Amino acid sequence: MAQQNLGYDDTPFIPGSPWRVHDSTRRQPRIVIPGTACGSKSPGIAPSDAIVLFDGTDLSKWESLDGAAAKWKVKGGYMEVDPSSGNIRTKESLGDCQIHLEWAAPDVIEGESQGRGNSGVFLMCRYEIQVLDCWNNPTYADGTTAALYGEYPPLVNACRRPGEWQTYDIVWVAPRFKGTELASPARVTLFHNGIVVHHDQVLFAPTGHRAILKYEAHPPEEPLMLQDHRNPVRFRNIWYRPLKGYDE
Ligand code: MG
Repeated sequence: MAQQNLGYDDTPFIPGSPWRVHDSTRRQPRIVIPGTACGSKSPGIAPSDAIVLFDGTDLSKWESLDGAAAKWKVKGGYMEVDPSSGNIRTKESLGDCQIHLEWAAPDVIEGESQGRGNSGVFLMCRYEIQVLDCWNNPTYADGTTAALYGEYPPLVNACRRPGEWQTYDIVWVAPRFKGTELASPARVTLFHNGIVVHHDQVLFAPTGHRAILKYEAHPPEEPLMLQDHRNPVRFRNIWYRPLKGYDE
């Protein structure tokens, strides 16, 4: 429907588009109520259209890799890795999306290098964004906090102290396959504590430990997985928003 005085109806058409430049009939963007940022004590609040995967109360959206109930501890508004209970994954599958989560390494420092506050955020159960306590804890660069494990170190080390809450904001574009062939690789943008540490980075393969893996065709939507690396890392306020275009 025409919206008077909002735009123009005598301007050129945008190439490949039914809309004119400043078209007065082009619909308004849909409204989303923004969330709030994570505080040192309190979790952030998800935006109004987010799909919440963990709100601090229970693991009903998560399961163990064998399909049994997730065994991590829930207390004080967060979940905590119960060492050696295994990785957990979401029951629902995610495709291209924006993901937010908050995590904290144990405040009691134990171990060093890869043994300190290690966990991981595995997109589609295959592509790991490293979670690690790299506050005064050097390790191999492509395994540091926020590294795309075994592929790309983060642009900078934006770690907070162990025990402090930290944020990951991820923009994930899943790989595409044509039959068994890779059509386009996965791409990831990551903000660690609000700082860009990967910008539209192309993954050359699923991430691996001491190995170069190869893309293997998988569905366009897969679960999100969190890693049990035998360190009691905490997570809270996990949500995502499917990436949809303006017209979808
Ligand atoms: Mg890890």
